[in-house]
Amino acid sequence: MGVTLDLTRAPAQPVAPVKPNLCGLTRGELAAALVAAEVVRPDKVKMRAGQLWRWIHHYGVTDFAAMTDVAKETRALLAGAFSLARPEIVERQVSRDGTRKWLIRMAPGIEVETVYIPDVGRAGALCVSSQVGCTLNCTFCHTGTQALVRNLTAAEIVAQVQVARDDLGEWPSPKADRRLSNIVFMGMGEPLYNLDHVAAAIDVIADNEGISISRRRITVSTSGVAPELEALGARTQAMLAISLHATNDALREVLVPLNKKYPIAELVAGIRAYPGLSNARRVTFEYVMLKGVNDSPAEARALVQLLRGIPSKINLIPFNPWPDTVYECSEWKTIEAFAAILNRAGYASPIRTPRGRDILAACGQLKSESEKVRASARRKTAAPVET
Ligand code: SAH
Ligand code: SF4
Repeated sequence: MGVTLDLTRAPAQPVAPVKPNLCGLTRGELAAALVAAEVVRPDKVKMRAGQLWRWIHHYGVTDFAAMTDVAKETRALLAGAFSLARPEIVERQVSRDGTRKWLIRMAPGIEVETVYIPDVGRAGALCVSSQVGCTLNCTFCHTGTQALVRNLTAAEIVAQVQVARDDLGEWPSPKADRRLSNIVFMGMGEPLYNLDHVAAAIDVIADNEGISISRRRITVSTSGVAPELEALGARTQAMLAISLHATNDALREVLVPLNKKYPIAELVAGIRAYPGLSNARRVTFEYVMLKGVNDSPAEARALVQLLRGIPSKINLIPFNPWPDTVYECSEWKTIEAFAAILNRAGYASPIRTPRGRDILAACGQLKSESEKVRASARRKTAAPVET
């Protein structure tokens, strides 16, 4: 088969080469990048990489010129070879309740949402995404109706924290009185299907000469990828959250189809073996309250039974509705009755107040609506189709 070259098209505009960005690299990658670009000699790299690390992750600088203890010539070399730029913020919204949501463009067509929720955790929690879309399709989750676009890189996960820190004015990393004290991997995507990048991002975020958010304040939520739990604990020492939502396999298979692959017994065995599990480091079980589906007193008792002996906390999540969903949120009094049974069994205040619903930042609402609005906006501005 012959190949024909089309020489009639105008040559493409010259595009400036994209400089590698240093902001999301692990310590090892940072050192390797400096040596490979011949900006730093191998015998000097440990010292230089440590210096840059503090500027990037403790001071949050986005310009090499700010690195005042680095020689001017070296700064120029660095600026010629690398970038410290943040990704583009496409949209920023602030809820009546103080919740902030950013739509961040990591690359063309790669957009994720990140949500900051004040007064959660020690001071405030950042809900980060690990994937664009999700391969799983939990029937109550709007993100699950969207195909997976791709995994986020470690740098793209770290960038979400940096963007939030920029907005909250939290550079250099404060030792006390932080507004962003906790990280939860509860945004879009299944973190255990992107464990390599999630683990590398946690290494950067937890580093105590940088952003310095302790691993005990970082929670990874999974829909139940049982075989990856041990690796998650061993590699990240993060806190574990499990999206349980049902106490028997028949119902869980409907709500979280992944349960067909990893049924409850296998999941619970994996949780019991989670490295570092103790009364001081409990598993959080998330349980979405769906009217007439999983909210009976009998199910509350079954939940207590199922979790017996596992150091755990329970979070009841009022269902956040989305267009065309078949589910409804349980009545408030039903949720309270359910919570009362858990309280009597020793689990304190488990109802999660929905946050940021007015800006579609609540659990299970992420990304979808922005895409929809943006798609219709695109249609509006598109040229009319000729008939
Ligand atoms: N994929 C991971 C992490 C992201 S989802 C996981 O499933 O655990 C974060 C939490 O929001 C999960 O517990 C999920 O079950 C819950 N959730 C999803 N859709 C929801 C909705 N419409 N209302 C309330 N919670 C929802
Ligand atoms: Fe994916 Fe989690 Fe939504 Fe399930 S609940 S579809 S795993 S994001």
